[in-house]
Amino acid sequence: MTDCIFCKIVEKKIPSNIVYEDELAIGFADVSPQAPVHILVIPRKHIPTILDISEEDSMLMGHLIEVCKKIARDKGIAKTGFRIITNCNPEGGQVVYHVHLHVLGGRQLHGPFG
Ligand code: 5GP
Ligand code: ZN
Repeated sequence: MTDCIFCKIVEKKIPSNIVYEDELAIGFADVSPQAPVHILVIPRKHIPTILDISEEDSMLMGHLIEVCKKIARDKGIAKTGFRIITNCNPEGGQVVYHVHLHVLGGRQLHGPFG
């Protein structure tokens, strides 16, 4: 999708600090980190929100979780603990409409919202 900032990151049309990539997904550092480790894991495919995930994308979403786990281990936050967050639509706090999982860790996260 041409006007989607995360599609541009996937296509490497805008720079990002990519920490993981494979044929289905990429992981890159959030530009405004809310914790010492704050990585965004996204599908290469443009899907606006989690409401738009179809049954055929179930495997893809499972894969994204596996990528989050790998990144948590690689970043050394798996054992200490981390959080995976996805926001949906305005009141859910979604700003970028390309599905993404926030992987947050490296400090004590407080309350349900970190
Ligand atoms: P949302 O609020 O949609 O769940 O989260 C969007 C996230 O994307 C925010 O944490 C924001 O800091 C991050 N973000 C927005 N634009 C860019 C960008 O151009 N590059 C990177 N690396 N992160 C971005
Ligand atoms: Zn996109």
